[in-house]
Amino acid sequence: MTKTKEEINVTGDISIHTQNILPIIKKWLYSEQDIFIRELMSNAFDAIKKLKTISVKESLTDLQRDGKIDLIPNEKENTLTIKDNGLGMTSEEIQKYINQIAFSGAEEFVAKYKDKEDGEQIIGQFGLGFYSAFMVSTLVEINTKSYKEGSQAVKWSCDGSTSFSITESDKEDVGTEIILHLSDDAKEYLAEERLKNLVERFSNFLPVDIQVNGKTANNQNPIWIQQPSELKEEDYKKFYNVLFPFKGDPLFWIHLNVDYPFNLKGILYFPKLAHELDGNKGQVKLFCQQVFVTDNAKEILPEFLTLLQGAIDCPELPLNVSRSFLQQDPYVQKISKHIVKKVADKLIELHKNEKEQFEKHWEDINPFIKYGMMNDDSFYKKVENIVLFPSSSGNSTSLKEYTERNKEKLENKVLYCEDKEKQASYVAMCKDQGLEVIFLKNVIDVHFFQFLESKNKDLKFVAIDTEVSEHLVDEDSESKAVDPVDNKTESDKLNDIFKDALNNDKLKIEVKHLKSEKISGMLIEAEHVKRLRSMSAMMQGQQMPSFDDYTLVVNSNHSLVKNILTLNQALDPEGKVKPLCQHVYDLASLSQKQLSGEELQSFIERSNELLSGYSQK
Ligand code: ADP
Ligand code: MG
Repeated sequence: MTKTKEEINVTGDISIHTQNILPIIKKWLYSEQDIFIRELMSNAFDAIKKLKTISVKESLTDLQRDGKIDLIPNEKENTLTIKDNGLGMTSEEIQKYINQIAFSGAEEFVAKYKDKEDGEQIIGQFGLGFYSAFMVSTLVEINTKSYKEGSQAVKWSCDGSTSFSITESDKEDVGTEIILHLSDDAKEYLAEERLKNLVERFSNFLPVDIQVNGKTANNQNPIWIQQPSELKEEDYKKFYNVLFPFKGDPLFWIHLNVDYPFNLKGILYFPKLAHELDGNKGQVKLFCQQVFVTDNAKEILPEFLTLLQGAIDCPELPLNVSRSFLQQDPYVQKISKHIVKKVADKLIELHKNEKEQFEKHWEDINPFIKYGMMNDDSFYKKVENIVLFPSSSGNSTSLKEYTERNKEKLENKVLYCEDKEKQASYVAMCKDQGLEVIFLKNVIDVHFFQFLESKNKDLKFVAIDTEVSEHLVDEDSESKAVDPVDNKTESDKLNDIFKDALNNDKLKIEVKHLKSEKISGMLIEAEHVKRLRSMSAMMQGQQMPSFDDYTLVVNSNHSLVKNILTLNQALDPEGKVKPLCQHVYDLASLSQKQLSGEELQSFIERSNELLSGYSQK
């Protein structure tokens, strides 16, 4: 039934209480004005989907057609038209959905932000749906014809003030055209390249044909809407390369596919990190029904997961809600929890079923897992037992295995080594005595150890160069005899000799009879000082200056040290004691800290001198 002209031609006031919305909105949203494309495209796509559903349900075979959205710039008219072949609107629907509903959203926005000074903060916090068209237009027209039988096509027109008009239109095909009369500062949206880029950014994954000037501009298949069983490894890799070109292949991925109790689809990739703190790389794009919403789904993912890359699609999340709202939204929290659980499940599954792969990837994924454990207790509890520590046994070990294996010797201590190259001789010494050492690899590890200690009260991480384990010392063979002349033991004497020779008030000296004859001395520092250093290094990304709180452990079981004692007893006629003591100290320093330029120079000179003595016939 066609309506009469009187019924169609309507002019009126939009039921809205704020005057002059347009200038206010333009001011706030100016720098993010591109989002009008997102909003109008998503409306067009909605309309296409609705028609698809209705046409199937009501067997309207004529209207069962492929969806299509056209972007048509017209330089002469200075207009940009967004045209869809969706379900269209009747005059009543325009009045209801555009005049009342769309505008009330805009009104709410203005009421909320009118008095705020800080425009930057607001930008992007609020989508405005249809009204965002006014961000780039001086006049907006809707030319539309509803799919409903006998509907009269209508044209709505509004210049951003609060009055509008609706007139009869001669549009013949079902669907909607939004005609934007571009404002002077929005002429850029006439350029084909610019439009193509916008389509790529916002609508690349919309499963309808989107054309700019008659040429298809979107081409990507959003594989996250497919069933995981339909997809092959190559599909996931290919898709990753579409999302993140030139980033190489991902390590592995998780396909999220939930229908109940909420709707969530997506693919999360574990990227190969260039280095441990390569945290900026993570990027999970957020979509809402395949319409791009934002480049970084920060509000939905817990922080530690922002290291991941990929795309998630939350159809139940409105396009236009404020970010701060998202963070508190129970729905978002549920999604976030679910994702954390899925990530943990995937890691556990890999650990269980593909141990070799898991160990191979461990280097890349361990900082993120550790960080996650420290930040999310439920995640910690789930993955606690899959954490691997490289060990001097040659294999990786879990903490549980380690403590079980070493319980007898170490009780609940875990011996670790910060630099397995530099401290190779300490490690060898521990190994010789059957002590297993785990190797610290990442700067995050010291934090992580601290965290594990806070979780397990009896657990204690001890660096091999912070104390000399009783297992390394052979007290029984140590000479305890006291010299009747000066009332001193050998240890006391060595202590005096080294103190005198090194002449360094800050350095403490301890003489110990080690089982090993591999090293003459060892430089140790307190565990807490060591950790402080590592943590400040992590914070600043560089080594801190030396804290200078070292103890030199002199090995009275080493022949060099024994010789020093003998030389000293013989009154050291050639003055060798002092340089030899200094040499013991320098050698011990080498595996612990950086020698300063001056120290290194005298070390080299002394080495040459000592060696020329040694090489004399
Ligand atoms: P939302 O999309 O969140 O509902 P909008 O302000 O974007 O809010 O749009 C308001 C309403 O106008 C839509 O719900 C829809 O009913 C109608 N609408 C907008 N654009 C179109 C279109 N291209 N085709 C059909 N209906 C539309
Ligand atoms: Mg919308």
